[in-house]
Amino acid sequence: MSGAALEVEDLYVSYGLSQALFGVDISVDAGRVLAILGRNGAGKSTFGRAVSGLVPVAHGHVRFDGAEITGKAAHRIRKAGLTYIPEGRGIFPGLSVIDNLKMATRQAGGRTERQEAIDRAITLFPVLGARRQQRAGSLSGGEQQMLALARALAVEPKLIIADEMSLGLAPLMVDQVFESLERVRADGITIILIEQFIHRALAFADDCVILTRGTVGWRGPASAAGTEVLEQYLGEASAVPPDSPNGSQPVAKEGSLG
Ligand code: ATP
Repeated sequence: MSGAALEVEDLYVSYGLSQALFGVDISVDAGRVLAILGRNGAGKSTFGRAVSGLVPVAHGHVRFDGAEITGKAAHRIRKAGLTYIPEGRGIFPGLSVIDNLKMATRQAGGRTERQEAIDRAITLFPVLGARRQQRAGSLSGGEQQMLALARALAVEPKLIIADEMSLGLAPLMVDQVFESLERVRADGITIILIEQFIHRALAFADDCVILTRGTVGWRGPASAAGTEVLEQYLGEASAVPPDSPNGSQPVAKEGSLG
């Protein structure tokens, strides 16, 4: 019943003379969760930034919800329903929780719509309501990620690209982040999860793409990304089972590939 939410075809992206993506094809069907994995520097964030209009597309096509969005401005893409939550959360640490939510809802229409958007966010993440006057920078890491998600949801997105949401968080906080994402998924929102914590990501996702040096190295159902695939494309750290003490260890750096 659901078609592709996002179709990316032959995507090339450069930062000046340095090329980061080389002809990447990725699509995700509406309502599904796609995990994008890869070593440091493989191009995961670049993919997220390029499809959301934050860095220019040098070549290729990006179609979102049936419409061509290649080269469109970031605020237009966001308005069309594609929200990128950047690594580092994208919140305003000096502002209160409520002011962070108010800023996120500025695009949400009139006063009533804006208030409704804030109420929805607080219903979804009650802890944010309890801490509405607290400075966002003083929230726990997990709560800051909930605020980042709440800000993203305020504009009722159809697709969220969550970039390294669990980075730097303690295991319990990582659990909170995945619980929050579960609520987003239950709302029918398509999710692209950019993650270094691969076992958590694979357990959560439906589909998986592994980027290697700016190209798609492997793609398939998340359940098919077994030890051999992970070792081949992500290195030894990836083979550590999730319950072992090193299970949350991030993967190796791209340059260390043999
Ligand atoms: P990480 O897991 O470390 O976040 P990543 O897979 O998200 O890595 P990117 O951040 O997309 O990788 O980087 C891809 C390549 O582009 C890397 O070689 C990186 O050094 C380069 N790059 C990223 N941002 C810039 C920039 N602003 N200017 C120049 N080069 C950049």
